[in-house]
Amino acid sequence: MKGLVTKSTGSWYVVRSEDGKDYEARIRGKFRLDQISHTNPLAVGDHVDFDLDSDDLAVITNIYPRNNYIIRRSVNLSKRTHIIASNIDLAFLIITIANPRTSTGFIDRFLVTCEAYQIPVMMVFNKVDEWREEEIEIHEDMKFTYEDIGYDTMTVSALRGDGLDELKAKLKGKISLVAGHSGVGKSTLVNALSPGLDLKTKVVSGFNNKGKHTTTFAQMYEWPFGGYVIDTPGIKEFGLVEIDKDEMQDYFPEIFALRGDCRFHNCNHLLEPKCAVRKAVEEGEIAGSRYESYLTFLEEINEDDYSK
Ligand code: GDP
Ligand code: ZN
Repeated sequence: MKGLVTKSTGSWYVVRSEDGKDYEARIRGKFRLDQISHTNPLAVGDHVDFDLDSDDLAVITNIYPRNNYIIRRSVNLSKRTHIIASNIDLAFLIITIANPRTSTGFIDRFLVTCEAYQIPVMMVFNKVDEWREEEIEIHEDMKFTYEDIGYDTMTVSALRGDGLDELKAKLKGKISLVAGHSGVGKSTLVNALSPGLDLKTKVVSGFNNKGKHTTTFAQMYEWPFGGYVIDTPGIKEFGLVEIDKDEMQDYFPEIFALRGDCRFHNCNHLLEPKCAVRKAVEEGEIAGSRYESYLTFLEEINEDDYSK
């Protein structure tokens, strides 16, 4: 039988069969051996083949290749990573202009990560009901900056209902991720779309086989209008895992677009002469905040010493 992994606790799973039945599932030993760089062999979002044993327990026999997946660094083993979820169709980044203000650094970190993982992003500005002149202007600027680079944006009010039909249409039939700072309205939004569905991240604690404390819980919920949303505590740690210094520029589409225009083919767009990227920043074609994020993220990679 074929199925979709809708829940992972690290040691056991829930698999939904194609005819919509949920089975508790385990993996056969051989899949555990496969994992050199990841601490978990199976993640929410994985498509699998499974057999049923005599107790109706699913035994997973095959994992299909993943379109994409998101990871975070393992708590205990710094060189290994933990797969949070796979096969994500669209990531929704919930942003607020005020109360609280989402920084461009936070936004860019999320966008870079999604570029690296090849996950399309929808930027959702929430709390439009609160906006006065100042917030409207800031939103206009941000919308211009990000749409110019190629990102989709939308504006909603989880509280008043503005834009929610449009949002539903985007979520329908897809596997999505809802991310954003705490306080931006993720829970309110999810509840407005699906009353009773409380995504407040549940942290289930357990112990891994080395006896160390671990939290690896992730789960998918079905929307009443079709499609799934992924809920996991890992989203908070969503960050620049496994991005090399030289690839960083590939994940800023407006910097990537200028590749080949700098004097040096291996230009890092820092202090090199005749740099097309710095020129574009000076001329206002690339937003200063975006270039700042680029510099900040490069700096972080420099500080991050894996050799320890
Ligand atoms: P989360 O931490 O991202 O899950 O945010 P919550 O859903 O808990 O919302 C944080 C606060 O923002 C709550 O007081 C909500 O009532 C409020 N809130 C959420 N959405 C909106 C909105 O569209 N407009 C306004 N004015 N407040 C909102
Ligand atoms: Zn350059």
